Amino acid sequence: SAKQAGRNTYCFFEPGMHANAARTLMLQQDLQAALDAGQFSLVFQPKFSVATRAICGAEALIRWHHPTFGSVAPMEFITIAERSGQIVQIGDWVIREVCRCVSDWRRRGLEPAQISINLSPIQFNVPDLIGRVEDILDEMDVPPRLVMFEITETVAMLNAGRTAEIVNRFRARGFDIAIDDFGAGYSSLAYLHRFKVKQIKVDRLFTSELDRNEAEARALLSAIVTLSHALHMEVVAEGVENEAQMRFLTELGCDEAQGFLLAHPLSEEAFRSLLQPMASFALRRIAALGQPR
Ligand code: C2E
Ligand code: MG
Ligand code: MG
Ligand code: MG
Repeated sequence: SAKQAGRNTYCFFEPGMHANAARTLMLQQDLQAALDAGQFSLVFQPKFSVATRAICGAEALIRWHHPTFGSVAPMEFITIAERSGQIVQIGDWVIREVCRCVSDWRRRGLEPAQISINLSPIQFNVPDLIGRVEDILDEMDVPPRLVMFEITETVAMLNAGRTAEIVNRFRARGFDIAIDDFGAGYSSLAYLHRFKVKQIKVDRLFTSELDRNEAEARALLSAIVTLSHALHMEVVAEGVENEAQMRFLTELGCDEAQGFLLAHPLSEEAFRSLLQPMASFALRRIAALGQPR
């Protein structure tokens, strides 16, 4: 009825919603300019070995400094870019920027760390995604083993057969794959053997459950670790915020951990300063010292 329509219309133009829709529209219009003007940047959140607490890689996370809105959260603008299709271009930028950083670290003689790159479901569905990725890595002279791609569990399970096919194609080219935000659907455990991914990243909700619901959260994590290891996959706990969680993860035999307790996402410079000099450089220097002068 007209009355109902009126009510709906009224609902639609709720002040808060209106402001939100306007902001969304402005952000969408500004995404292209952001690419052109270099308003995007990357931060790197280190991943640590649970057993040794040594850095074993990092996840690249995008940041947008908008000229008027200031810092815009990736959750907000990635969603907008996915709807408009601009995520493909932004995703290419992320891959190229990761490669630029990796090349720079290698040129400086730093031991390269494997960098994880988040892939949006839209990117994952682009035909010849691997071709695009390979072109960028070739152009930047970065070997595939130095990057890993993260796809979320939800995306992976949407069409398990197709995911298995794409994951296997990535693996055949030397790229590692991780399943991100794992744990939303326990049923997914049954599918794990089909993917042969390198890592399972357990969602941080699971990690925080360790505080609230010790026995059950431990049992679930323990099952994930046991099954993943049986299938030759590593387990990474996301969102580790306290030592009690680290203790549990150590006991459970979890492989890697990521979280504010260990390191926040860092600027490129800050992350670079954590990288070790390349062993080959050290060896060459030792050899040089042994030379008669
Ligand atoms: P994600 O891939 O699961 O990334 C982890 C998020 O958790 C990051 O948020 C990180 O800053 C945050 N985090 C890390 N440790 C902790 C912790 O101990 N406690 C808490 N509370 N949070 C922690 P961020 O950077 O805001 O990214 C949010 C999401 O946006 C990412 O979730 C990912 O889905 C997406 N995203 C970020 N960068 C990219 C990108 O380059 N491409 C795509 N497609 N998506 C991206
Ligand atoms: Mg991720
Ligand atoms: Mg995650
Ligand atoms: Mg997440």
